[in-house]
Formats: sequence, structure tokens, C-alpha cells
Amino acid sequence: MASLGLLLFTAALIAGLCTAETQPLKVTTITQEPYTMTKGSELEGFCMDLLSTLASKLGFKYDVHVVKDGKYGAKDERGNWFGMIGEVVRGEADLVLAPLTLTAVREAAVDMTKPFMQTGISFLMRKDIASDDSQYLSFLNLFSTEMWMGILVAYLLTSFCIYLVARISPSEWDQPQTEDNHFTLSHSFWYTIGALTLQGAGPHPKALSGRVITAIWWMFSLVVLACYFANLSSWLHLDSKHLSIKSFEDLANQNVIQYGTLKASSTLAYFKNSNNPTYRQIYENMERQQSYVQSMDEGIRRAQEENYAFIGESVSLDLAVARYCNLMRCPEVISMRGYSIAAPLGFPLLKNLSVAILQLSESGELDYLRSKWWASSCVAENAQASSLKASSLKGVFLLLALGLVLGVAMALMELASKSRSIANSQRKSCCSVLTTELSQRFGRSEEKMSAGTDEKCKA
Ligand code: GLU
Repeated sequence: MASLGLLLFTAALIAGLCTAETQPLKVTTITQEPYTMTKGSELEGFCMDLLSTLASKLGFKYDVHVVKDGKYGAKDERGNWFGMIGEVVRGEADLVLAPLTLTAVREAAVDMTKPFMQTGISFLMRKDIASDDSQYLSFLNLFSTEMWMGILVAYLLTSFCIYLVARISPSEWDQPQTEDNHFTLSHSFWYTIGALTLQGAGPHPKALSGRVITAIWWMFSLVVLACYFANLSSWLHLDSKHLSIKSFEDLANQNVIQYGTLKASSTLAYFKNSNNPTYRQIYENMERQQSYVQSMDEGIRRAQEENYAFIGESVSLDLAVARYCNLMRCPEVISMRGYSIAAPLGFPLLKNLSVAILQLSESGELDYLRSKWWASSCVAENAQASSLKASSLKGVFLLLALGLVLGVAMALMELASKSRSIANSQRKSCCSVLTTELSQRFGRSEEKMSAGTDEKCKA
């Protein structure tokens, strides 16, 4: 009799276990784009895709419901959990699959897996209220200081080389004793600046050597101008071109823009528990003004319509920035954290869930899901423009240097060949003719004028 009873009890236990095993897991989630969204009577999004992948990997069935109170999970004044964590603690759900941040207090109340997504805390605001247009010289920031210095040196050297070749080359200045030279030093500088601004101040060099230098300088100017305008264009569309509020410190030290977090969220808990004076100041201000929002959507809407900065998790804020092009996210991101799946303490599947998450991460599946749900519409606008460094254009600087050397060498060769033919005809040494030519070409202009007058008188 006793053995029959034992047999029946064992059978009932096995049957119970089997039913428990096949019973679908109750999964709770929260509606937030793009993690979980309603599509008719169905739910879809990153978290739903992740849940179905995990379910097929680990072989479990599930029923999903949206959390009743619409909260992530925090403790009330009496120490009772509410939100999705509350549902797990009370046994109303077996799993939480949502953008739920792994925190110490939550980990003490429930079991949490390894994170499936990393994020940090930042804030979101309208571009027009964040930008500061009071900087008059910001157009200079498009090129780095070394780039501006490089352009200045290139300009001075090229102008000087044009002046040099115009003096040396006989095709430019054949009779230094009688003719005036068109290319004085100041004219060379004016000519080069004319080319740099695409104005083409004449007269232009006639000698091949001068034309080589001029052509290379034109090319250099075109490349530099093209780079400047390309940088200018992306800078004009840049979110962070000249922001007055770039960090949490800037946000704390102003009182024009109101700011707040999601109520009962891990972001709020971070500011509440922080010892950093800036973050404490932010928390105290939010408490004073009760500037919290009830949902992510409300935060995004207030950021779009009001003088309001919504403080939240960067990965979610980035999606809002991609959707609404009038919004921008602050470049500063603090307190790195991760989103995890929560389950009741001692949940048997937890270890397997963590292993599966790591496998999905290592195989690139999580990256694929992220790119699937985080497609952006403002990608081009959010591209970063930084000041252009001289090293990025080192090729064109090198080409200019070669052009200058080539031009001067050609002018010297032209003069040398002229000197040789004079030396042959007058039976003088080539060197002495060359020295005389050079001294005439670089001698003082009064001496030349008087020499010219003397020659005319003799004639
Ligand atoms: N992921 C957060 C949480 O689990 C909610 C969003 C937020 O803190 O900004 O509480």
C-alpha cells in the first residue's frame, strides 16, 4: 500500500515537473521605441527579436505582456518594488526583457543576466536652444592653427619665389639695365593673394619658370579652398558646432533650460545617489522643480516643444536624435551601464540566458539586431566636422614646395643659358657674366635707372 502511495506521489511529481517545464514563461516588458512597440495586437522590436532568438536557442515558450504600471522598477517609500521588477518580485512575471538597467539594488532583489546592450547617461535638447552664436571668429576653427600657419608660410614663400623668378628669368625681364620689372615684391604678394581668392590679379608671369610656380599655386589654392568650403558646409550643419551647453556641468550652471529624467528610473537613482557635487546639484534642482517625465515619449516631446533638456540613456536618446532632426544629444556621456534580463532569485535558466547572450554578442547577432532597429534618418547631419590639419593635405604642400624649387631652378637655368651665350659672344667668362646679370637684377633700382640713362645718352 505504502509503495503504491510512493509510486503515485512520484508520478504526480514527474507530471507536475513536466507541466512546469512546458508551461510558457511569463515575460514582462515596457513599450519603448525601438525595444518593444505595438503593431496591431502584436508586439515587435529589438527586445521581441531577442526574446524569440533566446527562446529558440534555449527551447522555452513564452507569453509576453506589457507591465501594468508602465514603470521600469524602483522601490516606493515602504520599500515595496513596483514596475517590472515588482512584477518579478511578486511572481507575476518570470522574466523582464526590456531596456532595464542593471543596478546594485535591482541585482539584490532579483537575478540579472549579463548585459545585452551597453549605454551611458547623457541629455537631449533642441539644437536651437543649445547653440551659442556669440563667437565671431569661429570660421577660423575650420582649419587647425598649424594648417593656417602652413598656408601663411606657403603664401610668403610662393610670393617670394615669384618675385625671385621674375627677377632672374630673362624671358620675364630681359634688359635689367633699361627696363622696369613688373614683379616688385609687393606686386608678387598681391598677385599670390589674388590667386588664392580666385580673383586673378594681373599682370601674369610670362616666363615658363614663373608660370610653373603660378600653376602649382593655383592648384594649391583650389585644393585649400575646396577643403575649406567642404569643412564649412559640414560645420554649418553640425549639431555641436558651437554649443553653449556641452556638459552636465554647463546644464547645472544655468537656469534658462529646465531639465529632468524619467520618474522612478535608474538614471534618476544615479543622480540621487551620486556624491559628485554637479550631479547632486542636478538632482536637487530636479527635486525642487519636480521636472520629471512619466515616459520616454513625454521626455522627447518636451525636449522638442519646450526649453527642456531630457536626461536619459544615450542609446535611447540617439534613436530620438535620429528620428527628430531638430534634437541633439550632448557630447558628454557619463556612468556606463548595461541592459540585462531580470528573473526571480535562483531562476534555473539564468545561467543559460547569460551564456546565450554572450554567444549572440560574440557571433554579431546583437549587432545585427541593433542595426536593424536603430536605422537613422539624420545620419549625415550628425557627422562630425573637425578642424582640418595640415598633415591631411601634406601631399599638396609637398607639391607646392617641389613647384617652387622647380620654378626657381628653371629661372636660374634660363639666366645661365643667356649668360653663356653673352659670354660666348663677348668672350668673357660665363661666371662673371652671370654675376653681373645677377647683380643688375638684384641691384638697387636707382643704380639701374642711372645705368639706363647713361646707355641711352651713349647711344
Ligand atoms: N533603463 C532605465 C531603467 O531601467 C530607464 C530609462 C532611464 O533611466 O533613463 O530604469
